[in-house]
Amino acid sequence: MERILIFGAGLAGTCLAHQLMRRGQHVHLIDSGENHSSSIAAGMVNPMVFRRMNKSWRLDEFLPEAQAFYQEISQEIGEELYHPIVIRRFFSSLQERQMWEQRQVQIEYSAYLNPLSEEDLAHQGAHNSFGSGRVKNAFWINAAKWVEANAAFFQRNGMLRTEAFDPNLWNPQAKTYGNITYDKVIFCLGYQQKSEATFSFLPLQQTKGQTLTIKSEQIQSKESLNRKCFVLPLDNQHYRVGATYEWNNASLEITEAGRNQLIEMLSSLGSYDYEILEQKAGIRPTVLDRRPLMGEHPEYQGVYIFNGLGTKGYMMAPTLAKELASFMLDQKPLHPETNIQRFTAI
Ligand SMILES: Cc1cc2nc3c(=O)[nH]c(=O)nc-3n(C[C@H](O)[C@H](O)[C@H](O)COP(=O)(O)OP(=O)(O)OC[C@H]3O[C@@H](n4cnc5c(N)ncnc54)[C@H](O)[C@@H]3O)c2cc1C
Repeated sequence: MERILIFGAGLAGTCLAHQLMRRGQHVHLIDSGENHSSSIAAGMVNPMVFRRMNKSWRLDEFLPEAQAFYQEISQEIGEELYHPIVIRRFFSSLQERQMWEQRQVQIEYSAYLNPLSEEDLAHQGAHNSFGSGRVKNAFWINAAKWVEANAAFFQRNGMLRTEAFDPNLWNPQAKTYGNITYDKVIFCLGYQQKSEATFSFLPLQQTKGQTLTIKSEQIQSKESLNRKCFVLPLDNQHYRVGATYEWNNASLEITEAGRNQLIEMLSSLGSYDYEILEQKAGIRPTVLDRRPLMGEHPEYQGVYIFNGLGTKGYMMAPTLAKELASFMLDQKPLHPETNIQRFTAI
């Protein structure tokens, strides 16, 4: 059994901690208790990328593993976090509908796209000039609860300390933090990794996102509606609407411009009456090539990173965390598109 320290208990750190625990490792986490990404997220897992009407990257590997993982962890920590949902895409053009029609007869899309029905084409739930289609096998994780319930779980088990990372206590050569030496140390600091020196050479970007929580009697949908934005049904006629993409922006302020953009995006779906209850802002850790940042530090043996989960973190994190655990414990090579060697190899 190895003694392992993880900095950061957001989505990356918690998924990795669970996967390492499943491998019987002795895991500790340190987190400042101020999460601005995993807990702000809508937690939606959409198998499709609608722009090109393609499956998401490595979908057939990620999705079943994520579905099983979140249900198992929900049971383990005693919180209901996993919610299956239908995503209804309202097509923005005839061309988009034709792309769906091409895909719906392809065997590799049969688990994800329902064939278009008369009802889909005439659906009244939103402005619907080109019809709509229903995505199968989508779900959402209650993201705020994920972070909170995991923190409580790891605290209960004496594994999580709530404090800020102190660079003065950190010796990367010796893998020592304070007066404890670890076998392995992993940085999972999300967008805040940028201000930490150990992995500062990586091209991590900070992409702000804002969402609204609204109340509406008129939307009346149990499905998640999608065009330009998503509308995710919660309880009691409450809906989450998101999200903006504000590149290279690490400000946590909610803004009027963000709110107006979300209102505008929502109007592309329908002319509903609603009340805005809440506006939130968070920062996604993104990479230009849209692939995560995983691997071992080029100089410091036993020091790793798990970051860059971007916009689809909730789908990818369980499998990627398992792959990182196998890389660390069994020297099993990482998927080449995820390995930070793509930025460090000469
Ligand atoms: C508005 C918005 C909507 C989103 N919607 C979705 C969605 O629907 N589906 C989806 O899959 N993804 C979504 N995402 C993306 C998703 O949230 C991210 O991919 C994911 O949360 C990143 O997780 P992380 O663990 O890398 O980072 P974080 O969640 O930021 O976790 C990092 C942790 O490190 C801790 N930390 C940082 N610095 C220090 C320090 N110096 N000392 C101690 N602790 C520290 C923080 O407290 C934090 O808990 C959304 C993001 C945003 C902002």
